[in-house]
Amino acid sequence: MEQEKKVSDLPAEDRDAFTLVNEVSAISANIPGSSASKRKIRNDIRAYFGYFGMPHLFLTMNPNASHSPLFQVIYGDDLVDITQRFPDLANSVNRRIRVASDGVAGETFFSHSIEIFFEHLLGWDHETKQSKPRGGIFGKLRAYYGTVEFTDRGQLHGHFLIWLEGGLNPRETHVKMKENPDWQRQYFDFFEDIIRHHAPDIDIDIDVDPDFEPHAQGPPDPNDPLFDVEFPYEVKRCADVLQKHNVPCHKVCFKYGSEDCRFGFPHDIVPESSFDETDNSISLKCLDPMMNWFNPYILTFCRHNHDLKCILSGKSAKAAMIYITDYITKDDEQMHHTLSMFAAAVAKVADRVAHSDNPQDQT
Ligand SMILES: [Zn+2]
Repeated sequence: MEQEKKVSDLPAEDRDAFTLVNEVSAISANIPGSSASKRKIRNDIRAYFGYFGMPHLFLTMNPNASHSPLFQVIYGDDLVDITQRFPDLANSVNRRIRVASDGVAGETFFSHSIEIFFEHLLGWDHETKQSKPRGGIFGKLRAYYGTVEFTDRGQLHGHFLIWLEGGLNPRETHVKMKENPDWQRQYFDFFEDIIRHHAPDIDIDIDVDPDFEPHAQGPPDPNDPLFDVEFPYEVKRCADVLQKHNVPCHKVCFKYGSEDCRFGFPHDIVPESSFDETDNSISLKCLDPMMNWFNPYILTFCRHNHDLKCILSGKSAKAAMIYITDYITKDDEQMHHTLSMFAAAVAKVADRVAHSDNPQDQT
């Protein structure tokens, strides 16, 4: 109908129908997982690519509500003291029941976790929408774009495209790689520093305690005089528990009819980072084929599984782009997605009312 004539030429009832559809889309575009939101994401990403060029990092964050001390407090458990490194928590069955029974608390926990992560670890100023003068663990960010997805367990995880301040586009990077070996070394040093593919090579054999639950504990204190000595051990313990892929793969690895592990495990071992001039491919060092890429500071301070990829390097580039394109185009609104969408919508409305100056909104 839209192609045949102008909306204003339609009968009044049809015009009303168009208005209704547009208003429903405008509302649902703000609800994660809805079709309208996916359309908006696709358009937004196109605009970001057009303006900022190719992003440099692709990050997936999986804050784990059921194990998190912070979630228990948001849920309303006043007995949990989050100033303690090892707080006492309800048992894991009760914690899972809490997550399942309060989607709004789950959404609040997720949003808050991501907000403080960007502010304190990545040095992002949410007020001015730019990096703070000191930057963060990746240096300064030029921009980032995030999408939220619901896991099969009804929890939220986020995918983020990140553009670094001073980062070059692929063509400039390839030219510099060919012409300047010092620059090439610096490029590898930078990415090997922020993205690790193996636990620290510590001589002393650490047997990780089977009861070690990094999700359920607080982060180490950076002001502790022993922090620098203890840090590599904490990274090793957390990496072994949080970043190792299951051997053998779980059923979820073969979802959507995939014959190989859809997360790409085992990864190819790359003893040294390298650049191949023949096809302009970049391969970053990868020493543990079953370890997911991680950043040591995100690992120890956020205490959940995550995945960090350099978008220009080898298979990571293709995997990241295919994943995000797939995600924003696939349309599988199952019941648990729908319920989680409602929770997100309720949390957004509650947040808006809490921040509204209109007293009528607060009744
Ligand atoms: Zn697998």
